[in-house]
Amino acid sequence: MDDAAFPLPLDGGCRCGAVRYRITAAPTFVFACHCTDCRQLTASAFSVGMPVPKEGFAVIAGEPRSWTKIADSGLPSHQYWCGACHGWTHTVAEHSPQAVIVRASTLDDHGWVRPVGQIFLRSGYPWARLPLPLNYDTEFEDTVALEAAFAASGVRPVSTS
Ligand SMILES: [Zn+2]
Ligand SMILES: [Zn+2]
Repeated sequence: MDDAAFPLPLDGGCRCGAVRYRITAAPTFVFACHCTDCRQLTASAFSVGMPVPKEGFAVIAGEPRSWTKIADSGLPSHQYWCGACHGWTHTVAEHSPQAVIVRASTLDDHGWVRPVGQIFLRSGYPWARLPLPLNYDTEFEDTVALEAAFAASGVRPVSTS
């Protein structure tokens, strides 16, 4: 997506404010993940992920801790969280290391966030299935359709400038 079409930067952080991050490149899409890890990490029905190009993401305060597991891809996936309030802010999966997956609910302004697709429906609560056009039983096969749907959706932060 064209960064000029997206109001930047986007700031966010954990609940207590010790960990803060800044996004300076347009997110490529927003998705819901119903996998067991996400449900346990969020203590909720699904997580809301927002991939951002790696060079467009920076931690600007605090030192997130990480918890690593071997993902379905067979490669490590690193979950970053605040050591004080344990808020989960972002993920780096080594099978797609060019992106940081920001947990979109941790944005300061997250009212605009809306997923265009959902993954790991096989693991999720049936009642939590969202009425979305792009649905995957497990991982998404590729991100082309999700990126196109997000670009076409017009879902954007409301620019205040
Ligand atoms: Zn915190
Ligand atoms: Zn997940």
